[in-house]
Amino acid sequence: MPHTEREELTPKESNQLLLPGGHPPMWNHMDSIGPIGLPHREGVPGCSQEGLPYPSNSSELPVSPQVLECLQQFKVTGTQLQQIQASLLDSMEQALGGQASPASAVRMLPTYVGSIPHGTEQGDFVVLELGATGASLRVLWVTLMGTGGHRMEPRSQEFVIPPEVMLGPGQQLFDFAAHCLSEFLDALPVGKQGLQLGFSFSFPCHQTGLDRSTLISWTKGFRCSGVEGHDVVQLLRDAIKRHGAYNIDVVAVVNDTVGTMMGCEPGVGPCEVGLVVDTGTNACYMEEARHVAVLDEDRGRVCVSVEWGSFGDDGVLGPMLTIFDHALDRESLNPGAQRFEKMIGGLYLGELVRLVLVHLAQRGVLFGGCTSPALLSRGSILLEHVAEMEDPWAGAARVHALLQDLGLNVGASDVELVQYVCAAVFTRAARLCAAALAAVLSRLQHSREQQILQIAVATGGRVFEQHPSFLSILQETVMLLTPECDVSFIPSVDGGGRGVAMVTAVAARLAAHRHLLEETLAPFQLNHEQLAAVQAQMREAMVKGLRGEASSLRMLPTYVRATPDGSERGDFLALDLGGTNFRVLLVRVTAEGVKITNQIYSIPENVAQGSGQQGILLNWTKGFSASDCEGQDIVCLLREAIGRRQAVELNVVAIVNDTVGTMMSCGYEDPRCEVGLIVGTGTNACYMEELRNVAAVAGDSGQMCINMEWGAFGDDGSLGLLRTCFDASVDQASINPGKQSFEKMISGMYLGEIVRHILLHLTSLGVLFRGQQTQRLQTRDIFKTKFLSEIESDSLALRQVRAILEDLGLSLTSDDALMVLEVCQAVSQRAAQLCGAGVAAVVEKIRENRGLEELTVSIGVDGTLYKLHPHFSSLVAATVRELAPRCVVTFLQSEDGSGKGAALVTAVACRLAQMARV
Ligand code: ADP
Repeated sequence: MPHTEREELTPKESNQLLLPGGHPPMWNHMDSIGPIGLPHREGVPGCSQEGLPYPSNSSELPVSPQVLECLQQFKVTGTQLQQIQASLLDSMEQALGGQASPASAVRMLPTYVGSIPHGTEQGDFVVLELGATGASLRVLWVTLMGTGGHRMEPRSQEFVIPPEVMLGPGQQLFDFAAHCLSEFLDALPVGKQGLQLGFSFSFPCHQTGLDRSTLISWTKGFRCSGVEGHDVVQLLRDAIKRHGAYNIDVVAVVNDTVGTMMGCEPGVGPCEVGLVVDTGTNACYMEEARHVAVLDEDRGRVCVSVEWGSFGDDGVLGPMLTIFDHALDRESLNPGAQRFEKMIGGLYLGELVRLVLVHLAQRGVLFGGCTSPALLSRGSILLEHVAEMEDPWAGAARVHALLQDLGLNVGASDVELVQYVCAAVFTRAARLCAAALAAVLSRLQHSREQQILQIAVATGGRVFEQHPSFLSILQETVMLLTPECDVSFIPSVDGGGRGVAMVTAVAARLAAHRHLLEETLAPFQLNHEQLAAVQAQMREAMVKGLRGEASSLRMLPTYVRATPDGSERGDFLALDLGGTNFRVLLVRVTAEGVKITNQIYSIPENVAQGSGQQGILLNWTKGFSASDCEGQDIVCLLREAIGRRQAVELNVVAIVNDTVGTMMSCGYEDPRCEVGLIVGTGTNACYMEELRNVAAVAGDSGQMCINMEWGAFGDDGSLGLLRTCFDASVDQASINPGKQSFEKMISGMYLGEIVRHILLHLTSLGVLFRGQQTQRLQTRDIFKTKFLSEIESDSLALRQVRAILEDLGLSLTSDDALMVLEVCQAVSQRAAQLCGAGVAAVVEKIRENRGLEELTVSIGVDGTLYKLHPHFSSLVAATVRELAPRCVVTFLQSEDGSGKGAALVTAVACRLAQMARV
């Protein structure tokens, strides 16, 4: 029994790993012993620290210097492992960014698997596995039971692929597969129609869809002609059709790593890494889609196949390659390729051991210096032999039997030495694999921006299954290389088969959910005709309202007869009754522009009293400015106004003032500003109408600003066709059901509520949040309109969308986050488009009023929703361009519209009054 002592990677020494080339003194004798890298065996009798079969003095070793020298080559130091980790991470990131050269180290191939399973997947699936387990092909019948049911063991059958098929024409291989499929299905009580198949095809492929995948190059001992560069799904479909026995739909193609990952239950964290060490080795993990340059997709996640088997093909593994690795590569089917895989994959481990044994025998160290024809022939030692020989209990006997089977002369010390060789080769493989996995974990930790990454890694493949110490060495090494990750390893139970069925089922579920989502959001997607109809109805309602006929638009005259022309001067004190606050502003209008020099939130008595000397005081409420405009005593009006303040409805007051004030304040900078628009808590608009069109005010010449009160548009039922059941729910729960129809589809007070109602509906359909309703989401106004802005912000990762929703007690997958984003987009897009249709009606009316071919006009806009939502303003502008192509519209955002605008209305009124006196 050889003693097995792990070398330098022990926890207490881990910080030493950071010192390149530096070994702590206590390792010196270990280094000189040589068979570095023997696996750690816990609980093996005779292997305690005290009972070392190795004396600490190398001269007493029962191992010859040639053996030491030979096995020394398999040693990988901690520093080297860290170099591999860093270098692989580097190649991964380069390949993700699309910068990799053709001879690049890893491929980072995106699969079309975008989400890990829910656990709700169900149904029966056929799985065909090719390339996962050496020279065989496996067919499985997998039944997924959803959340409620218990797990059913899949039925499966393995078929050995004859060597001439593995190396023959591609069509022969796929015909063989089709034959195996029907042989397997014949024995099951299933129909011949409508079977859904997941194809597990574990070779490097370029995937262009969940069911389209082009083989890049064969690996793992396969070399069929006419397959590289072709879609393997199509080849399989053709073969199934040629065979003709069954009608099978090939739904998805994945590789074994994806299958392994998808088949596992979550551990401490979600299972988002798949690691396979079988004939070959590879890993996959869930990457943020926006980091995968070739995808051109900025949302969600996608499973990426690292294809790390080819790591080192560009030479970076150079110093770590032994003479045996070089010999193995030379004799392989694909010299120069898959260099990393050839140090780890099960197809090669037995061969490496054989090459070492030949070398030692030829140097007279083993088997009395004799080889045998069997030992000299390629492939005579297999993965399973190595695993058996390494077995701590039965190993020695197995080694003996095996060596004898190979026709070798087994001497007394040979058995132990052969075990050393096996251990050295195996340990190196496990540690290299650990370094590669550490690179993937670092990548994940970095892209998730998490302090401690909690994650589960699904492991699969015969190397894990047959050689338990492979996992323990791997695990310990990973812990040392990535101390910031909390990793649990979950062995896959039935190979990747269940996972492949999962992918197939997930694809089916996602398609069904997407269909329901699209159906739900369809009424929010307004086409050109619908928007043009809104514009026309708005126009009609405007005309009726102006004429004093029944209309949902009140079209209130404001008695503001002109917009600023820039010649206004003076100091003005403005009172803003807009909200709960009663603001007083000192506004100075000079040749240099408008300056608000003071801003107070309560009215000190002396200011109110002294206002007569200070300038002109304007009470900024509906009708008051009108009196002012008529040139009456302002101080008197103020007193009157303050006296009347309790009598007026403050809400309405605020809205009127905001809209006109916004137009006026922007009008001072831009004389073309003849429209005011508010999109905040509520929404409203005003514009300059020809007085001749305003029935309520006498006079035929000149203009007057009309406060449209457009929030009420549609209260006569004219928006009926556009209103969804979600709008109806929001309206029902509001304080004014049946009122402000247009506003309830547009403004900040309601958008969050509409989204919340849609989310509730989608949850009830099982599309969102795994169908689980939460109390929080049923709370009115819990979903703020500012969340729409945050969720739709381009710079925000979906992770942050999740954070917002998790704050609401909703636990969601990245699919959920994506769908919530789409809901928000649909609701805010409709709001902006309806608002744009209203604006289009207004500017077109102004253009026609004036008989112009083309109107150039500016619009003063205020309101937090308009200003802070990332896309609202550009969607409004785009809609106006589309619906009013003959108007050139500029949108101006007002600053402090109410205060500045209030002063300017006064200023304009003063100017007009002065002109009248002259
Ligand atoms: P008001 O219209 O009451 O005079 P605002 O123009 O500031 O005041 O609008 C306030 C409304 O804007 C809030 O009711 C809220 O719905 C909405 N809102 C607040 N923050 C945001 C944001 N970041 N994105 C979109 N809407 C917002």
